[in-house]
Amino acid sequence: MIRGLIDRYRNWLDLPQNLTPVTIGEGDTALVHWDDWGQSRIWLKLEGTNPTGSFKDRGMTVAVSMARYGGARAVICASTGNTAASAAAFAARAGLEAFVVIPDGQVALPKMVQSAVHGAHLIGVQGNFDQALAAVRQAAESESWLTLVNSVNPWRIRGQETAAYEIVDDLGHPPVMLALPVGNAGNISAYHQGFIRYGKQAPRFIGVQAKGADPLVQGRWLDEVNTVASAIRIGRPASADTARLAVEQTGGLFLSIDDGAILAAQQELAHGGVFVEPASAAAYGGLKELSRMERLPEGDIVVILTGMGLKDTDTPQRWANLTLTSSRADAIVQTISQMLNLSEA
Ligand SMILES: *Cc1c(COP(=O)(O)O)cnc(C)c1O
Repeated sequence: MIRGLIDRYRNWLDLPQNLTPVTIGEGDTALVHWDDWGQSRIWLKLEGTNPTGSFKDRGMTVAVSMARYGGARAVICASTGNTAASAAAFAARAGLEAFVVIPDGQVALPKMVQSAVHGAHLIGVQGNFDQALAAVRQAAESESWLTLVNSVNPWRIRGQETAAYEIVDDLGHPPVMLALPVGNAGNISAYHQGFIRYGKQAPRFIGVQAKGADPLVQGRWLDEVNTVASAIRIGRPASADTARLAVEQTGGLFLSIDDGAILAAQQELAHGGVFVEPASAAAYGGLKELSRMERLPEGDIVVILTGMGLKDTDTPQRWANLTLTSSRADAIVQTISQMLNLSEA
C-alpha cells in the first residue's frame, strides 16, 4: 500500500512529531530502464505519475502539511501551471483555500482546469512568471494567515528531496549522472541536497534549459523569455545560487536546447511509450546532446521526467497526427491492411 512520502521518509524530513500529513499518495514513482547507450545505462524517473501529474506534489505534501500545522487559512503561489495544480489539490485535501497567480495567457489549459476543479481561486497577472512570483512573495509576507508554497518555501525543497532518496533506494547507490529540466531551479537544488543527505554522494548534475529561457546557461537574468516548454519559461530563477552550487560541486553543467530539439525528444519518448510534457522532454533532449558529443560517463544515468504529457495537449499537435482515417464499419480489415501497406511504402 502506498502511504504517501511523509510516512515513508518521515525520519529524514525533520518534521514536528505531531504533524498530520496531508497526502494524496504522492511519490514512489517508477524508475524505468530505458536503454543502454554504450556503457551508459539510461533510466527514466516517471514523475508524471504523481497524483496531479508532476513532481510538484512531493514538495506540496510537506509544504501544505506544514502550512496547516502552522495555522494558515490559505496557501498562495505563482505558477507556470503545475505548482498551481498541485497547490490546489493539496489545499483541497487539507481544507485550506488556495490562491494561484498565473501569467495571463501563458499557462496550458489542462493545468488551469486542474486548479479550477479543486476549487482554487485563479488570478491572472499581466507579465511573466517572475513578476507573478514577486507579487505573491509580497502578499504572503504581509498576511500571516497566508502561506507561500512556491519552491522558495524550504519545505517544498525538503519534500522534493525524496525523489533522490527513492533513486538511491532503487539503484542501491546514487547514479553517476542525473539530467533534469531547470526553471525556477528549486528541483535541482532539492536533488542535490537529497543525494548528499541520503546517498552521501551526488551525481553530476546536467541542468537543461530551453533556448530562449536559459539564464543559467547565459549567466545573466532574462526579462524576455520564450519557449514551448512553458513549465521552464523563467528568466530569473529564484534558486539560481543553489542550482549553480549543485552543478559546480558535482562537475556537472548547464546546457540549453532549442524548441525543435525539445519536440523531437518528446516525440522520441512518446514513440517509446512514454508521454511527457515539453519541459520534461528537454531533460532527455539535453542528455542526447551530451551523448552525441560523447560526453556521457559509464554507469547509471537518470533522466527526471518531471511532468506527464496530457498537461499540455497543444504542443504535441505540432508533430503528432490527429487526423482520422475514415472507414466503413464492415471494411475495417481492408482499411488497416491499406494503412499498413502505406506505412511500409
Ligand atoms: C516546475 C517544473 C519544472 C521546473 O522545476 P524547477 O524546480 O522550477 O526548476 C520542470 N518541469 C516541470 C514539468 C515542472 O512542472
